Amino acid sequence: MVGLPPNRTPADAVLNVMRQLREKDARWQEGKTWSLVFHAGDEVHHLLKEAYAMFFAENGLNPMAFPSLKKFEAEVVSMTARLLGGDDRIAGNMTSGGTESLLMAVKTAREWARANRPHITQPEILMPNSAHPAFEKAAHYFGLKSVRVPVDDHFQADVDAMRAAVTPNTILLIGSAPSYPQGIVDPIPKLAALAQKHNILCHVDACVGGFMLPFVRRLGYPVPDFDFSVPGVTSISVDLHKYGYAAKGASVILYRTAALRRHQFFVYTDWAGGIYASPAMTGTRPGGAIAAAWAVMNFLGEAGYLEIAETVMRTVEKLRAGINAIDGLHVPGNPPMSILAIGSNSLNVYEVGDELALLGWHLDRQQFPAGLHLTVTPAHAAVADQFLADLATAARRAGRLSVPRLLNSMQVKLATWAVRKLPPNIVSALTAQSAKLTGIGGENEGRSAAMYGMMATLPNRGDIDELVLDILEQFTTVPASDK
Ligand SMILES: *Cc1c(COP(=O)(O)O)cnc(C)c1O
Repeated sequence: MVGLPPNRTPADAVLNVMRQLREKDARWQEGKTWSLVFHAGDEVHHLLKEAYAMFFAENGLNPMAFPSLKKFEAEVVSMTARLLGGDDRIAGNMTSGGTESLLMAVKTAREWARANRPHITQPEILMPNSAHPAFEKAAHYFGLKSVRVPVDDHFQADVDAMRAAVTPNTILLIGSAPSYPQGIVDPIPKLAALAQKHNILCHVDACVGGFMLPFVRRLGYPVPDFDFSVPGVTSISVDLHKYGYAAKGASVILYRTAALRRHQFFVYTDWAGGIYASPAMTGTRPGGAIAAAWAVMNFLGEAGYLEIAETVMRTVEKLRAGINAIDGLHVPGNPPMSILAIGSNSLNVYEVGDELALLGWHLDRQQFPAGLHLTVTPAHAAVADQFLADLATAARRAGRLSVPRLLNSMQVKLATWAVRKLPPNIVSALTAQSAKLTGIGGENEGRSAAMYGMMATLPNRGDIDELVLDILEQFTTVPASDK
């Protein structure tokens, strides 16, 4: 634990400590991270900072007090709706991010069903298993049943399987444009038609693609239909803090009609503090995030977004070709934009990830199937060649036998053996022990292949939940060494 310092600290000293701590953070400015940060260059960066700072004290909770923020939000929503094939009837709001947008889409579906399908007591939402975990979070928070259907061999939503999974309790169908794991756009027209046939709602999660796919299409690349031009699509989520290049804390949730959006709102009129109305999850809303989104959209305009998309797609083409040319590696499926995975049929791809980490690259690990993940941004144009060279080196090293690798694979084999032979409570203890050994959440960050290998072999997913909950707790605890 730490306590509040007893006395004031000079501002310079505080900022210096923060600058020092930052030194060890991932170097997104150098294009070394392949997720989390969407950097569109210094000019955009400085504009965002200025716009954010200008409105950082303002609160979007009450639009009456700040007509400027009200105008920004209305225009951001409108510009986004227009980009996604929407007409004047589309209604929407800004939210704090993709998760809040998805929570709202699901909550709206629940309220819509309560009003329009009152006989349904156990509502279900139906999605391909590639859909984002925020939908699980929504089902968890709002007491709905989530039904996940395996994707097809091309990592695309399997419409026939989803059709078979529709029940009288289904209220919402979900597709992604694109999905995060492999970057695949689901067959939205077919999913939306299925929803229409059953008179239920259809949400398109365009959180990561909404500000990219329209421009990728304009550049002449094939992009499947996914937006409001598709009949039956009733809501779309789009994150501005991804390919909209806005400051963090900016997403948009859009509905086909204002009547549908009304189910999203919350009002409480009996409070001593006055009449309380709130469109989405949060109360106080940072004015800076709203202002910065409006600023970057006006600064870039269609021409700016198109130009950036072209840079990104040229980098994607280079990376795809480069990855597929490396022995043992491939890009799974046929991702139409800048979200893609690296898979392997012959190498342990987690080992490749570990080798890449030693060369300074941070890539997320995926499972079912094992893979590494790339979110390509403008920052990667300058480093794509170096990355491919290092990837080839990493693949070569991962293919070779080495002592740490042998120990890793033995550990995985041992764990696989142990979980078959040992009683479940011992397996749980072993799992926790192994987390320490392999260093997830610990100091030994270089090597995670054994951890991921083991996680994939554990038959009891509940053990993994507990393990991850432990790690989550550790993240928000001040370590003993810092006291
Ligand atoms: C990023 C993402 C989300 C969640 O957005 P957050 O801003 O991280 O809350 C949801 N769906 C997809 C497809 C995403 O890529």
